[in-house]
Amino acid sequence: MRPEILFPLFAEVATLKGVGPRIEPLVKRLAGPLVRDVLFTAPTNLIVRRRTVSTEAAEGETAIFEVVVDRLIKPAKIGQPIKLRAQDAAGFVHLVWFQGSPQQIERLAPPGSRRVVSGKVERFGGEVQIPHPDYIVPVERAAEVPPFEPVYPQTQGLTSRQFRKLALGALEAAPELPEWQDAAWLARRGFPGWRAAVTALHAPGGAADLAPDAPARARLAYDEVLAHQLALARRRRARVTVAAPVLAAGPVSQRVESALPFTLTGAQKQALVEIRSDLTSGAQMGRLLQGDVGSGKTAVAALAIADAVSSGHQAALMAPTEILARQHMEKLGRLFAAAGVRAVLLTGRDTAGERRDKLAALADGAVHVAIGTHALFQDAVTFRSLALAVIDEQHRFGVSERQRLQAKGGDHGVHLLTMSATPIPRTLEMTRFGDLDVSRLTEKPPGRTPATTAVLPQARIGDVVQRLRVAVARGAQAYWICPLVEESEASDLAAATERANDLRRALGVEVGLAHGRMPGPDREQVMAAFSEGRLPVLVATTVVEVGVDVPNASIMIIEHADRFGLAQLHQLRGRVGRGAKASACTLLYGGEDGGLGETARARLEILRRTEDGFEIAEEDFRLRGGGDPLGLRQSGFPAYRFVDPVQHRDLMLAAHDDARLILSRDPELGSSRGEAIRVLEALFDWRQERAASD
Ligand code: ADP
Ligand code: MG
Repeated sequence: MRPEILFPLFAEVATLKGVGPRIEPLVKRLAGPLVRDVLFTAPTNLIVRRRTVSTEAAEGETAIFEVVVDRLIKPAKIGQPIKLRAQDAAGFVHLVWFQGSPQQIERLAPPGSRRVVSGKVERFGGEVQIPHPDYIVPVERAAEVPPFEPVYPQTQGLTSRQFRKLALGALEAAPELPEWQDAAWLARRGFPGWRAAVTALHAPGGAADLAPDAPARARLAYDEVLAHQLALARRRRARVTVAAPVLAAGPVSQRVESALPFTLTGAQKQALVEIRSDLTSGAQMGRLLQGDVGSGKTAVAALAIADAVSSGHQAALMAPTEILARQHMEKLGRLFAAAGVRAVLLTGRDTAGERRDKLAALADGAVHVAIGTHALFQDAVTFRSLALAVIDEQHRFGVSERQRLQAKGGDHGVHLLTMSATPIPRTLEMTRFGDLDVSRLTEKPPGRTPATTAVLPQARIGDVVQRLRVAVARGAQAYWICPLVEESEASDLAAATERANDLRRALGVEVGLAHGRMPGPDREQVMAAFSEGRLPVLVATTVVEVGVDVPNASIMIIEHADRFGLAQLHQLRGRVGRGAKASACTLLYGGEDGGLGETARARLEILRRTEDGFEIAEEDFRLRGGGDPLGLRQSGFPAYRFVDPVQHRDLMLAAHDDARLILSRDPELGSSRGEAIRVLEALFDWRQERAASD
């Protein structure tokens, strides 16, 4: 329920003075349906006006002059402007119009009148000209010409100046609100109170006030992200039901751990500590395990599964494809068998008889672990006591699929562990998965030799081919990636085909070609030949990026690497360097003529510097200015009013922790600060806006 104190802000925009039936739809389109939305529409620019005299005004500045009108110069020919000559204390000022009538202008500024005028200064042979002055007022009303005028987003039929009036009206409607932020924290950051912040938002006094780190803007951004994080954290708490109690590191887990052919990395151990603290808490776990491809998520999942089994329960592991499910069954099945844990594979390929037997074994508890695809969450699949659901490559599943699997726990909740191999920036992660807790594997298992990365201009392609020839002669296998802007782009396909032909000639070996427009079976045939070592070189478009695993391939060459996102390049590079063998990745940038040099190179240098997928994702995000490197916008990235995920990164991280702290101290929001927090949440609740405008 919305607190009463917010009613004036949640009134329709039509209640604002100056909003009639004509402009109402325009305001709604520009800002939103509510007074709050007008209040939260920030100016994007600022006109600064300086009072000066004609001899001192600078070209391009917006100046204010006090003048005496001399005379109107009518156009001698059609197409010439109307001019008004005026005089100030130092010289002449010419006001110029390309539209309008002499009568109108004369009414505004009759000869002999004293006026204050303002506009952008142009200098013509020592004379000051102001085309289309934005203010002409009698000197007595000089105060009407604002020295600082915020510029708002505009739309046809609604000017910035009109919108400014509405914003001032919304400001008047804005009540003082109880402070929801911690007073000491506000003081430390130099942030104003809420009402002072919205007031300052609409009254910038210089360009610095428009910057994301201006105190008023930063405070409102913090309010916004805190409200969002609180809502997510509350949703997460609401979901917390009593789940099956699970014992950490029970006997089965110890057997599984000692059956692992390696010791866990520090990052894996840390993730396990976090998972186990959830599993033993009595409340339902909702956790995302993030880690680059090859970071060892499976072993962590295996131990969590073993914990469930140790405690007399069952677990399910769901993967998006049949291949992945089989791979899990093969590896984990062996590991589990060594520890006396029985697992079955459930896929769409089982015969009716096999399926019946497997389902019966899961239902009576004879089998402890179900590994499978979508086949797992079908209604016919029941468990004697399911305690943990693990979902690999979680982004491939919908929320409802995850919920269906989680609903198979009978009378207790099922713990959820989801896994993702796409490193994403922290701010995106907490926005998109704010209702989950996150563990990160930031360290890779030892024994890998990371690929050596070189960044070269496209013009050096001849050298690259030379070296490739030597390597291929020694038995190396190489990927050669050509970018495809659009899979349908014929010229790009032609470029890939031509590259394959060139390489065939230059290297004197068989060169395969794989791209997304080939018929599936043809492409699979080429891929198979490459993976069996029959093809030394594979020219491919990025379609092959997912799911290829050719351990013998040790060379990756990427043409026009500057056309890829860093995160994507990182994933492509991950195709090599999978074993102990030394491998190399070459990134070619720029045009054939070496154009498009320095910035492209600087960006690619990041890949040379680090192997850390998280760092790369972070940097990619920053460089694109908070763009949408991973196409996440559609998948749940909210449209913030004040928050810029790049500029406000630190504030976002602080809000994430703050939201959790606030709720842990005051889960019911019953204290006086809690009440203020409810106001904050309601203030930034866009769902109600949607309901109101439907
Ligand atoms: P991903 O995170 O991509 O799912 P996997 O779990 O498949 O990665 O692990 C990748 C490879 O690393 C596997 O072959 C696995 O056996 C191995 N591995 C996992 N953890 C370790 C470790 N601590 N030490 C050595 N090798 C490990
Ligand atoms: Mg995996």
